[in-house]
Amino acid sequence: MALKPRYDVVVVGGGNAAVCAALEARRLGASVVVLEAAPQHMRGGNSRHTRNVRYMHIGPDNYLVGDYTEDEFFADLLQVTGGETNEELARMTIRASQDLGQWIAGNGVRWQGALKGTLSLNRTNAFFLGGGKALLNHYYELAGRLSIEAVYNAEVEDIVPGEQGRVFVHLDGRRQEVAAKSVVVASGGFEANLEWLGEYWGDDAKNFAIRGTPFNRGRPLRALLDRGAKAIGNPREYHAIAVDARGPQFDGGIVTRLDTVPFAIVVNREGRRFSDEGADIWPKRYASWGGLIARQPGQVAFSILDSQRVEEFMPGCFPPVVAGSIPALARELGLDPETVAATVAAYNAAVILGKYDSTVLDDCHTLGLDPPKSHWALPIQKPPFFAYPLRTGITFTYYGLAVNAQAQVLGEAGTPLGGIYAAGEVMSGNILGRGYLAGFGMTIGSVFGRIAGREAAKHALS
Ligand SMILES: Cc1cc2nc3c(=O)[nH]c(=O)nc-3n(C[C@H](O)[C@H](O)[C@H](O)COP(=O)(O)OP(=O)(O)OC[C@H]3O[C@@H](n4cnc5c(N)ncnc54)[C@H](O)[C@@H]3O)c2cc1C
Repeated sequence: MALKPRYDVVVVGGGNAAVCAALEARRLGASVVVLEAAPQHMRGGNSRHTRNVRYMHIGPDNYLVGDYTEDEFFADLLQVTGGETNEELARMTIRASQDLGQWIAGNGVRWQGALKGTLSLNRTNAFFLGGGKALLNHYYELAGRLSIEAVYNAEVEDIVPGEQGRVFVHLDGRRQEVAAKSVVVASGGFEANLEWLGEYWGDDAKNFAIRGTPFNRGRPLRALLDRGAKAIGNPREYHAIAVDARGPQFDGGIVTRLDTVPFAIVVNREGRRFSDEGADIWPKRYASWGGLIARQPGQVAFSILDSQRVEEFMPGCFPPVVAGSIPALARELGLDPETVAATVAAYNAAVILGKYDSTVLDDCHTLGLDPPKSHWALPIQKPPFFAYPLRTGITFTYYGLAVNAQAQVLGEAGTPLGGIYAAGEVMSGNILGRGYLAGFGMTIGSVFGRIAGREAAKHALS
């Protein structure tokens, strides 16, 4: 599609936050274009990999049961961030999430019951029927009916703030300029830019898997930081989990996630354990394993378990490595058999058996072992033995653009940069200093996308 020379609102990015902004801006009467770096079949960024959104509700809503109040939601956020959140913006986001169920369904999306599995979410998180891809397809279809223009293979390279903002985009093999009364930046994090990650992680960054889109390379973020936008968040912080090391480096999505850890011991490539596999219930702990593995040599690890535990987690997308003995398993994994056998033997000897229950913090633990396994510790003794290779899988980065409650991008001095708004991952660091709550990425993107779209339209039409 050919670009017009000017629009009221230019939206940079094509994921959930971007399309929420586009829909709201258009409904207020603004002319809107969505510039998406990806080709059409890969549109939608990380949002197309999602399954659910977390939102506040009083009483049952769609398939959600019970209540999920502002205070409980905020307490959950405080717990995972260790207090590293902007309370005003966080509470505003939580309150504004209350009508999300209705708004999302009002745009054609349908709901399904919560998926069963290791993370139990049926009170807090609503699941889109068909996942994020179906959600985005509904949104894009609606956007088309509302005459929002969507331009694909359009990589935004620069954004110049001002009364008449300018956006520079690489399209059809050349650099093109579009004038915009308002710009909404919703271009995700910079997790797919391994060189940029390398500034903080060195060569280790080359070993990370990026769970989502290869297009989130942070170019619009970099451009605005260079033009005086205020940065927020720690550049080394990200959401990262343990994924199957055999998955692709980019775009593996949800199926490469492995939930083996609580049922296993985890060793590094030297054959040694390095963290408590039973520290807390899995929904509170799964997101810490990406970072733990990132600090191990080669950014790899191996979960090892026996035939008694292998049915207890959602199967991975690759089969486990199987062997009749621990040394044989270690050889299959390319690890030193003697060290791994000694690690397993030391662990088995330290296990204090209790009443095993993987759904609570049970009393099966180790004694005198460093690091301990605090819960669900059972001896690894019944062949065959199983292993899964793990590596760090980054979901998204937190370092981004500082914003206010109107989604306006702030300059170094803390005053808004004229006409520039941000939504989604690119500003998630305002609320997520560290840690993560499942389903909160879509909350932030939907709430801020809607605010950014409305504010951008008001600014453009004033
Ligand atoms: C495997 C996986 C599963 C997840 N599951 C969930 C879940 O169930 N619930 C949840 O809440 N969160 C989940 N998340 C996190 C969630 O995807 C994000 O928090 C959310 O989608 C962010 O939305 P966004 O619109 O900000 O970014 P994205 O959806 O990533 O969109 C960014 C967009 O910007 C475009 N872009 C980037 N650079 C440029 C450029 N220079 N020019 C133009 N366009 C550009 C990209 O192509 C993309 O379209 C998951 C993430 C992954 C990877």
